[in-house]
Amino acid sequence: MTGIQIEQREEALQRAGGCICQACGKPFVAGQYAHKIANKKLWREKYGSWVIDHTLNGEYVCSLSCNASVDVGSSYGNHLEVIADILFYEYEKTWGAMGLNKLSEKILKEYEKYK
Ligand SMILES: [Zn+2]
Repeated sequence: MTGIQIEQREEALQRAGGCICQACGKPFVAGQYAHKIANKKLWREKYGSWVIDHTLNGEYVCSLSCNASVDVGSSYGNHLEVIADILFYEYEKTWGAMGLNKLSEKILKEYEKYK
């Protein structure tokens, strides 16, 4: 496991404060890490490690069934939802509230094309 993958899991575990399953809400003792966009060679080649190993691409869960419920499948639209969350997170992390404002201005500018 790489340093970024360890960091990814540590941050996800912090979000699961008190070891609460992020899928079903039940407490767990020995949780497991579940990727939203699966950690498969195909997706790693398409989106890169930056997305696959990003902390928002996974959650700690209690069981295999909860693990399966976190996986968003192979839908490109579902992948874009995860990537959008990552983008918002990174803009805010990098520039704070101004980052979110900057991103929303970019989005609104694109949206203007449809008016
Ligand atoms: Zn669960």
